[in-house]
This record gives sequence, C-alpha cells and structure tokens, in this order.
Amino acid sequence: MGLLDRGLEIKTPDQVRAMRRAGLVVGETLQLLRGAVRAGISTADLDVIAEDSIRSAGATPSFKGYHGFPASICASVNDEVVHGIPGARVLADGDLISIDCGAIVDGWHGDAAITVAVGEVPDEVAELMRVTEEAMWRGIGAARIGGRVTDISHAVETHVRAQGGYGILEDYVGHGIGTQMHLPPNVPNVGRPGRGPRLVEGLALAVEPMVTLGTKETDILEDEWTVVTSDASWAAHFEQTFALTANGAWVLTALDGGEAALTALGVPFGPLAD
Ligand code: MG
Ligand code: MG
Repeated sequence: MGLLDRGLEIKTPDQVRAMRRAGLVVGETLQLLRGAVRAGISTADLDVIAEDSIRSAGATPSFKGYHGFPASICASVNDEVVHGIPGARVLADGDLISIDCGAIVDGWHGDAAITVAVGEVPDEVAELMRVTEEAMWRGIGAARIGGRVTDISHAVETHVRAQGGYGILEDYVGHGIGTQMHLPPNVPNVGRPGRGPRLVEGLALAVEPMVTLGTKETDILEDEWTVVTSDASWAAHFEQTFALTANGAWVLTALDGGEAALTALGVPFGPLAD
C-alpha cells in the first residue's frame, strides 16, 4: 500500500514503476482496439479483443464486475459520453466511439480512454476529438510538484473554451488512482487554478475530459450505466493515468510515457529509470 498523506495515496518510485506495468497493458490494449475499430464490428467484439489482450498480458480487467459492470471496456458511441456497455451494436461508417479501459497488475491500476472515428466523420466531430485530447494533455502538462489539483482543471477548461462553444461535463471527473481505480482526489475538468489538494511527488491521477458539441448536461439510460448527452449532441472522451515524479509527469498509460505530447508543450517529462 502507498502511504496516505492527507487522505491521498502517495506512491514510492517502485510503486510507480509497478503502476507503469499496468499502464502499459492499458495503453497496448487501447492501441489494439484503435486498430480494430471499423464499420461492421460490434462493441461486444471490441470487448472480447480487450479482455484477451489484458488477460494474455497477465493482467486483470478492472472494469469487469466493478459495481456490477459486465465488460472489460466501456464503449460509448456518438451521443453516449461514457460508461456505455459493449453489446450487439455494430459500428457504422461515420460513428464516433469512445473506449475506456482499465487493468490491474500486481494490485496496481491503470485507466485510460480514447475516442476513435469510424471511417470519415464531419470536420466538427474531428475537431471535437482534437480539442478533447489536447485539453487532456494541457491538463497533465499543468501538473507540477507544489501546484494544486485544480491547476489541471483550469488548464483543461481554458483550452476547451478557447477552441469554441463546447460543453464540458461537470458531473463526471478525473480521479486519483493506485491500489484502487478510483481514489481521492477528484480531478474536475473545469475550475479556477490553485485549489484542492497539493500536487506532490508520488501522486498518481487520471485526467479525463469529457467534451460535447452541445450541452454539458447528461442523462443515464435505462441500463443504469450509459451516460448520454441530454441534447443528443456527440461527445469525446480522452483519458490517461500519470504519476508525478521528481522529474515531471510520467504518463503511465501512454506507450511513450507521454514524452512526445509533453515535450511539444514544453513541460517536463518525468520517467523513472528501471
Ligand atoms: Mg477510464
Ligand atoms: Mg478514469
């Protein structure tokens, strides 16, 4: 177990390295799924691919059985924002699918999500994806030892607002992660900087903006899981798990550790040596 500092689970460098192993399973599984998304595949097929990938890596799918969730991924299509249940739905050209995935290795969790276009999508949908993914990286890039959690929130919100009239979900947020998938603190996607818990070495967080082409308001379908926009506008969701090391942010679920995106933003990239 990590040490608890003011209710936050603080990881040792060796524990962060263990989380990297879980993060890589998630990153590799999402890469596989990105390549598998095409018109004609069902979301249940994607779930099978994900579970095989996770288990063949010696890991456990963290979503399966989580509060009764029946699958290894969340698959959320078009106006579904998050928590969609994989099933018989067959993807069609022009759809937008968000895939969220979690895995456990030696008790340590990784959690990440991507949004993928199925074939060609309208420009405004491609822009929605770009803005959401960029906002996630801006958020991660705003995390500094000695800063505060809402520095991340502010960076996410500021980037999205500067790009257009998008909706940013407030009812669902990022989170601490480690020995459990969801730990304190919450990491909102909107807010003023300089608030919330202090960011310290060994803190691991999942940053996950959920952005829509319309409203921030959502409803939950009768399956009691799937979150949809109240105005049926389409949504994107990107997520990465990162840890703060003495050197900077190490994006545990990114195959390159976040090096390319963080370097492009001109912020420290902080992998730990083996
Ligand atoms: Mg997730
Ligand atoms: Mg998450």
